[in-house]
Amino acid sequence: GEGLPRPEQTRVMVVANQKGGVGKTTTTVNLAASLALHGGRVLVIDLDPQGNASTALGIDHHAEVPSIYDVLVDSKPLSDVVQPVPDVEGLFCAPATIDLAGAEIELVSLVARESRLERAIQAYEQPLDYILIDCPPSLGLLTVNALVAGAEVLIPIQCEYYALEGLGQLLRNVDLVRGHLNPKLHVSTILLTMYDGRTRLASQVADEVRSHFGGEVLRTSIPRSVRISEAPSYGQTVLTYDPASSGALSYLEAAREIALRGVNVQYDGQHAHALP
Ligand code: ADP
Ligand code: MG
Repeated sequence: GEGLPRPEQTRVMVVANQKGGVGKTTTTVNLAASLALHGGRVLVIDLDPQGNASTALGIDHHAEVPSIYDVLVDSKPLSDVVQPVPDVEGLFCAPATIDLAGAEIELVSLVARESRLERAIQAYEQPLDYILIDCPPSLGLLTVNALVAGAEVLIPIQCEYYALEGLGQLLRNVDLVRGHLNPKLHVSTILLTMYDGRTRLASQVADEVRSHFGGEVLRTSIPRSVRISEAPSYGQTVLTYDPASSGALSYLEAAREIALRGVNVQYDGQHAHALP
């Protein structure tokens, strides 16, 4: 790999935004693949009952497959459900099956219902540089489990009308979880997705997000790209589907920026890439 600096401890990043269709899953899988291609060991935890992240990574997640449901509800060890992602060395996935749709209710009556994912991650012994958790489009117990398990929240924001709408609710939940359950939790990263620099709207939204959040917003944004949207139907990330595309390069660049921030190295802007 290109050998980006690796974090001293596993960075657990929660990819959340209760709005659907803003690029959570796309960002989770492509950033994870990018971090792995840069030389990291990366685990994607699919916490959305739709299982879109599992599909996009080419991971079998039919109903009988051991999954994150078994981890959360039946206390199965995470190591029993993690699968290696084909074609990307260093990338792993804990898949979601449709069972997970029931977990939101089943968790309610379980002990330590908010911290079951955190416990499972703590008991996982494989060395990892990053864990990326793909959240469902809601703020229920599944997302709360992710917020308790992670230290960093990564919010993808689609450069569209109403981009900031509903974010207040997510930020209040982050504050609540920080105050009661997880003092280390913070919004570390905002990523602008589906950015179309030719439209005034996109640049206005980007300006608004940058003035609202400032330093958390990555300088790299992700362009709207047909290649990005096609890749999941081949069970691939854009990094293997079309490694030279603007979408692939932008996720590699975002991964680089995130990795440098993690070791407090100043990001020096756009970088000409060759895939490792
Ligand atoms: P979420 O997980 O937040 O619901 P997704 O990641 O599933 O959102 O993205 C929603 C839709 O937008 C998907 O069809 C996805 O392929 C598409 N999409 C996401 N990012 C991009 C992009 N940068 N360019 C083009 N299409 C994208
Ligand atoms: Mg999704």
